[in-house]
Amino acid sequence: MSLSHFHATLYTLYPDMFPGPLAHSLAGKAFDKNIWSFSTVYIRDYADDKHQSVDDKPAGGGAGMVLRADVLGRAIDDHYTPKRDGVLYFMSPRGRPLCQNDVEMMAKAQSAHIICGRFEGVDQRVIDEYQIEEVSIGDYILSGGEMAAMVLLDAIIRLLPNVMGNAQSGANETFHNGLLEYPHYTRPREWQGRAIPDVLLSGDHKAVDQWREDQSLALTRARRPDLLSRFNHDAMVQKKS
Ligand code: SAH
Repeated sequence: MSLSHFHATLYTLYPDMFPGPLAHSLAGKAFDKNIWSFSTVYIRDYADDKHQSVDDKPAGGGAGMVLRADVLGRAIDDHYTPKRDGVLYFMSPRGRPLCQNDVEMMAKAQSAHIICGRFEGVDQRVIDEYQIEEVSIGDYILSGGEMAAMVLLDAIIRLLPNVMGNAQSGANETFHNGLLEYPHYTRPREWQGRAIPDVLLSGDHKAVDQWREDQSLALTRARRPDLLSRFNHDAMVQKKS
């Protein structure tokens, strides 16, 4: 059994928000088993004026406030070593939209350092200085990066070794192979006049696999044609190589 462990370092103005929902269910059990852990860096601890201010008005004017470069920079310098810790992440709606491939890649690392924004965001010079990678969890605006970081962590944690009960349960999932997942059924055999498709009860595993593949393709074609064109492309590349 591997002794791998994943540690998340979260830079935040709301450390008490963590672990939040990650204390429950799959992630909570993994936490209890010491498969992952986290620490928070309270950005306000790095303020240097008597009001402990962390934000200020945007240069050039405009609405809202911006997290100060010097304050956040000190918090980062106190905890982050580029050579040791790898990429520094910043949850941000301007980032690359997170996808399962990214999550799989991050889950292979030993740790992640993640900055949770507030206000209008952070001073651009911090992003440039540490070559921060901005990660978005979707095309909408949250009030802060904490919940976005939890979403990212939840997606990572379930992929860590020994977290998911059935080692297979990640393999067929939506996005893993570039397609949406086929529909699931369980008991009772009939409900509200609706039966489980016969093929699933046939015991013919080949027929079941074929049905599921057909369903996956049909669903993806109907709902996410964007995924399908990528899938076809990947399948072609695989055939060629
Ligand atoms: N003015 C910014 C939005 C600030 S929202 C803009 O227009 O880009 C405040 C903080 O919430 C951000 O700094 C970020 O950390 C977090 N956040 C908001 N939406 C997010 C999203 N879709 N994905 C990841 N983080 C997000």
